[in-house]
Amino acid sequence: MNKNEIYEIKIEDIGADGEGIGHIPETDVAGTDAIEPGKDNRGIAVFVKDTVVGDVARIRIVKVKKNYAYGRLEEIITPSQYRVEARCEKARSCGGCTLMHMSYEKQLDYKWNKVRNCLERIGGVENAANLMEPICGMEEPYHYRNKMQFPVGLNKEGRVQIGFYAGRTHSIIDLERCEIGHPVNNYILQELRPWLQAWQNQTGSFIYDEEQHKGLVRHILTRVGFTTGEVMVCLVVNGTELPDKGATDGSCSAELIECLHRAVEHYNMEHYNMEQTQSLVLQSVSLNINREKTNRILGNTCKALWGNPYITDYIGEVKFRISPMSFYQVNSVQTKVLYDKAVAYADLTRNEIVWDMYCGIGTISLCLAQKAKKVYGVEIVPQAIEDAKQNAKLNGFENTEFFCGKAEEVVPEFYQSGDNPGKHPDVVVVDPPRKGCEEILLQTIVKMAPERLVYVSCDPATLARDVKRLGEMGYELKKVGVVDQFCQGGHVESVILMQYCGKEKK
Ligand code: SAH
Repeated sequence: MNKNEIYEIKIEDIGADGEGIGHIPETDVAGTDAIEPGKDNRGIAVFVKDTVVGDVARIRIVKVKKNYAYGRLEEIITPSQYRVEARCEKARSCGGCTLMHMSYEKQLDYKWNKVRNCLERIGGVENAANLMEPICGMEEPYHYRNKMQFPVGLNKEGRVQIGFYAGRTHSIIDLERCEIGHPVNNYILQELRPWLQAWQNQTGSFIYDEEQHKGLVRHILTRVGFTTGEVMVCLVVNGTELPDKGATDGSCSAELIECLHRAVEHYNMEHYNMEQTQSLVLQSVSLNINREKTNRILGNTCKALWGNPYITDYIGEVKFRISPMSFYQVNSVQTKVLYDKAVAYADLTRNEIVWDMYCGIGTISLCLAQKAKKVYGVEIVPQAIEDAKQNAKLNGFENTEFFCGKAEEVVPEFYQSGDNPGKHPDVVVVDPPRKGCEEILLQTIVKMAPERLVYVSCDPATLARDVKRLGEMGYELKKVGVVDQFCQGGHVESVILMQYCGKEKK
């Protein structure tokens, strides 16, 4: 098989990132004879982005590996029954919404099955389906994101481009509307585009040029509090300020703030009469200073330009302050569903001692604190721990204690240091990043011997690996919930309950 060859294939399966998988029989590959007896006669697996199970497609081979290949979709010959028209014409080049051409029902089906397959194949769980609740999808799986980060640049003709990086490159594709961001973003981009262009034309160096590492404005970050309607806009700049020097009215910042007010007003005018729609209010405008030549979007310092340096939002009854640099789950509606499930699995009666490991700004910790005697949280990012403490105060919780450091270091140290009620909690909750928990942390949790362990995970493969280890050390998988946090995208979020069953296998 060679690069650039064209084949016709039927898509039979979905890969780990939502791409379609089909097979090319080896007899079809130029230069091979009949298939050897006994060999998998489905042929060579080909991974093709933008295809759906059931599609018959013409594809072009773009990369050949030893036992498989990658193809690019050239043409759909017969569309799958699960194929839908993507709502966004840029879905294929953007890479943000890898599943947008698949019906939402099928997306949910795929995600539920992905968790099931991981638990069975990697986790060694028999009949995982029996423990799994139906997946919680969204009624309206669009416009759910509370945070957007748009790169800003110039095209060859010197026109301002705001949008997203085309898959695996750093060339910016201009975007007028995004179907998963809050719709106010469309109004903000519409206002900021001419403002950015005018200042670029005037100064010649207003827009950041990544290759030259010159120019000022790099990214536009926006956040919306879905329950409060508060809007935050933060410009990421390669500098320390906007060009206001010498102007008596601070003209550049003043114009920016005016543009943003107009955008929010425009949004309200067109939306606020509609049922269930929150009227929005601009609450925070700031700069984030990032002077490094780096792929990282945010620098380490922020500077308020107007309003508060944060917005507030609620998850259920708990109030949170969110600054431009804080981690906050991007899907507010589904986060509530996810945390409710985690809290339900924790089964609290106000008498329990609980740990929340990888606690971020304390979102899960504070949802637990309402129903527990005491909650301990641990998190690696110092700013997040500061936010967690502030958020506990803001809500009047006095039954929380937060530690800053690596969970795999802090928790074992805590466990070894003298007598403390936190050594033997009733419930442990973990919500690690994609790589899952370190072995030493899992071992320490087992020594702490909580009755229940609730594991929130954004990667079912590492979740399943850890479930297997915990199973070997005496914990039994009881319940599995899957919550769709990333509608139209391929990521899968799940939460499980494990219970101590006293039967150690190893
Ligand atoms: N539970 C929070 C955050 C989950 S994201 C929420 O739902 O909002 C995972 C968190 O783990 C991040 O805040 C990240 O900073 C933190 N983290 C990553 N590695 C860590 C480690 N080794 N020890 C403790 N926290 C870690």
